[in-house]
Amino acid sequence: MDKNRELHELLGHTTHIYAIGDDRELSRCSCGLKGYAVREICAKSTPDYASDPRLVLREMMKREDFDRFVGFVNGCNGYALDLIPVDIILNTTGKLRDMTIERLKGGYGG
Ligand SMILES: [Zn+2]
Repeated sequence: MDKNRELHELLGHTTHIYAIGDDRELSRCSCGLKGYAVREICAKSTPDYASDPRLVLREMMKREDFDRFVGFVNGCNGYALDLIPVDIILNTTGKLRDMTIERLKGGYGG
């Protein structure tokens, strides 16, 4: 599965599985939308969490375990707000996205 989509689903968002149509067939999506709306809404619905790691942080901030998540990201394995390493903030290869997927799937351990 596409990793942006995987994280989007792990965060509790609906993903849109769509097929763009042509002059013979309408575009349609798993959410029920059809036609031009699919191109305008569904095709733009999953953020690129790799290109901007802040998108991951904004989503994780909404969670009660955000402080534990930050501790996990900065490697201190405790509760440490405001300590996200610069190399993670600036990384655009999906490092934070992939770490977050791993963490959301595996929990925080003991
Ligand atoms: Zn849709």
